Amino acid sequence: MNTILDLHDVSKIYKSGDRTLKVLDNISFSIETGSTVSIVGPSGSGKTTLLGLCAGLDRSTTGTVELHSTRLNGLTEDQLAAVRNQYVGFIFQNFQLLPTLTALENVMVPMELRGEKNVKSRALDLLDKVGLAERSHHYPTQLSGGEQQRVSLARAFSNQPQILFADEPTGNLDAETSEKVVKLLFDLNREAGTTLVVVTHDLELAAKTQRIIRIKGGKIVEAS
Ligand code: ADP
Repeated sequence: MNTILDLHDVSKIYKSGDRTLKVLDNISFSIETGSTVSIVGPSGSGKTTLLGLCAGLDRSTTGTVELHSTRLNGLTEDQLAAVRNQYVGFIFQNFQLLPTLTALENVMVPMELRGEKNVKSRALDLLDKVGLAERSHHYPTQLSGGEQQRVSLARAFSNQPQILFADEPTGNLDAETSEKVVKLLFDLNREAGTTLVVVTHDLELAAKTQRIIRIKGGKIVEAS
């Protein structure tokens, strides 16, 4: 098995004042390159925290996270950002588009930050791929939720990530729009071999992935 992500005994403890909260408790699993996996569980069970640790957006308190054979623990912030830029795409439930920038500019920003070339034409191609070429000059407030999520997909695809993490990608969308977004995610997996890891409440979406990891109270209670 070619592993893209490996977690070993990962725990996450949040501290506020003298109170501590163990949000993830000894989580271990591996994800195969090119596979599709969903992480499910009740609200507050630690899914978003887990996704953030896997994507190198946050650090585990104990245990190890290896992404693409790079151990994330102990990396500096710059090194962590470099790993994310090279391998990772991330889609947030609330889209996290920059409100003062157009759809096109939102897709261009990370490409510019990475010092890439032909940024504008490539960003337009990405917007075209998600069916939004005609909306490229619209601002986020001028777009529907589904359109904003598709802009965030275009942005997440912009570094041709080897692994895409999506936190409730259909959480704020109606059924028809959800279907479009889910199709785009699975197209990317099929066409580019992108590994897909989704946190979702949407059981239809979870059923489409090859594996389901169920967590409760910060522990894995079931994994297929
Ligand atoms: P889920 O995605 O399953 O709803 P989360 O990972 O968002 O769960 O949250 C798990 C628990 O961790 C919750 O009790 C939440 O309040 C807590 N939590 C999340 N982020 C923080 C933080 N930055 N500081 C303190 N507690 C947090």
